[in-house]
Amino acid sequence: MKEKYMTENKYNTIIVGGGIAGLTSAAYLSREGKKILLIEKNKECGGLVNTFTQDGFHFDAGVRALEDAGIIFPMLKDLGIHLEVVKSPVSISIENEMLHIESLESLIQYRELLTTLYPESKGEINAIMKVIRKIMKYMDVLYGIENPVFKDLKRDRTFIFKKLLPWLPKFILTVGKINRMNLPVEDYLDTIVKNPSLKDIISQHFFKNTPAFFALSYFSLYLDYFYPKGGIGKLSDALINKTIENGGEIKTETKIIKVLADKCIVIDQQNLTYEYDHLIWAADIKTFYRISETDGFSPKIKTIFEDTKEKMLDNRGGDSVFTLFVEVDEPLENFRKIAHGHFFYTPSKQGLGETHWNELNSLLHNWEKVKKEQMLAWLDKFTRLNTYEISIPGLKDPELAPPGKTGLIISLLAEYDLFSKVQEAGWYDEFKTELENRILSVIANSIYPMLKDKIIKHFSFTPLSIENRIGSSEGAITGWSFEKPVPVVNKIQFSDRSVLTPIPSIFQAGQWAYSPAGVPMSILTGKLAANKILKRNN
Ligand SMILES: Cc1cc2nc3c(=O)[nH]c(=O)nc-3n(C[C@H](O)[C@H](O)[C@H](O)COP(=O)(O)OP(=O)(O)OC[C@H]3O[C@@H](n4cnc5c(N)ncnc54)[C@H](O)[C@@H]3O)c2cc1C
Repeated sequence: MKEKYMTENKYNTIIVGGGIAGLTSAAYLSREGKKILLIEKNKECGGLVNTFTQDGFHFDAGVRALEDAGIIFPMLKDLGIHLEVVKSPVSISIENEMLHIESLESLIQYRELLTTLYPESKGEINAIMKVIRKIMKYMDVLYGIENPVFKDLKRDRTFIFKKLLPWLPKFILTVGKINRMNLPVEDYLDTIVKNPSLKDIISQHFFKNTPAFFALSYFSLYLDYFYPKGGIGKLSDALINKTIENGGEIKTETKIIKVLADKCIVIDQQNLTYEYDHLIWAADIKTFYRISETDGFSPKIKTIFEDTKEKMLDNRGGDSVFTLFVEVDEPLENFRKIAHGHFFYTPSKQGLGETHWNELNSLLHNWEKVKKEQMLAWLDKFTRLNTYEISIPGLKDPELAPPGKTGLIISLLAEYDLFSKVQEAGWYDEFKTELENRILSVIANSIYPMLKDKIIKHFSFTPLSIENRIGSSEGAITGWSFEKPVPVVNKIQFSDRSVLTPIPSIFQAGQWAYSPAGVPMSILTGKLAANKILKRNN
């Protein structure tokens, strides 16, 4: 270890945020022998890649299954991590129609399912299928090789000559086509689908204005989902263990409340200071801009910093989720007969229409005049017409539920402002209960009748719980809202720059660094930030 790092609390790199992005940076920098400290505000690391236990049931707090995207498996291999995983097959159901997605052929069954429900829109359904098929081909190229960022390009000549070079021209061509599909999925569907219900059914479980390519690529991602044995959190555990094994330090229950960027110091809630040469900020980016001081920098850096800060603070986090966790006194087998452990369920083919966006916006806009009954009537519609993401960890790994019992995770997209206004108005707990009861009633009266009388216990997380737990602005789970131009890099060919900040010693990583984000992009930015530091050190 270099002498200058012998002082306690002085590090080559400090990483703030122990989500999957921060953990990736930590594992890579510690592997190269850097003196690093990862600081996490919670008791446990993982952020939205986390599993918790309640009454013997294991529940995933954030993401429900993982997609490799040419990133996760190459990262694990590169770090020498063995993670036991199983496939996480997906089912889709709309009203009484059910599809278990098994292979590419399932796309034909998906077309049939939609045609049964919307016979009048056969032509439009065929047009959607054509687009999905086209996107699947793009995805095959995009994720067709292991992401080169996780390969040792100096030594692995076979990879360079046999895979990377033949792939590059196809990649460049495909990226151009993908970028042309960056418009909001709603607008894109408008060009091919006139039936409003059909349009909703295809797009209503995506955030508002999700880029069309990202949204419509999900069918091929469904085939790719996998699940770590023991729960999603095992991925985070593996990176924690690797970091510690490499000699890296992890400090939990420590919240950074100030960054003296000009002095290369961060300060925690107990006023303890930590010095760094490099900082990777892998937590909420708006928080970073709010708590950073830049007084000692040149006017040029200060101006760029202030401009960037304004842009960041002017944007919002994307939509959040409401999640209901249910403990049921019914064996897994009875759920297995109905659908796979990862399930997108829409009880009504009618579609949400304007319920989620325009109607809710109008209620929020006129909040002072809105009566409780109006809000609850809206909630009725919202829960009846929505699409639910349902995950049953025990169907992926039976060890995750007590014998003879089943744990369910049921979620839907939810607007942060709604919960925050309800909280201000003083009926947050009541509203939460009303929402929980409506969801349970919709699900029990349709797809899982055993929820009528077999529930042992249930509890929920709202967008405000997410904001509290992981500190993300507006309770966002995948970074920036798509409603305004995003203030970060959003083109894959420029992803290398996504980790730069106006301050040369500070890098950003995770859901806020690149858009659209998710687990694979958070991992990629974590690695890119580590690479920048390693390059500087060498
Ligand atoms: C229900 C749900 C479904 C999802 N589905 C998918 C999916 O299908 N596919 C996909 O790719 N992604 C999905 N995601 C999103 C994905 O989980 C996240 O985008 C990703 O895990 C973000 O990782 P991160 O490291 O950037 O940040 P986070 O997980 O947000 O971690 C940030 C960490 O920083 C810590 N922190 C914050 N502030 C401070 C501070 N001041 N000091 C110290 N520590 C701090 C937090 O406690 C947290 O641990 C889903 C998420 C949810 C919730």
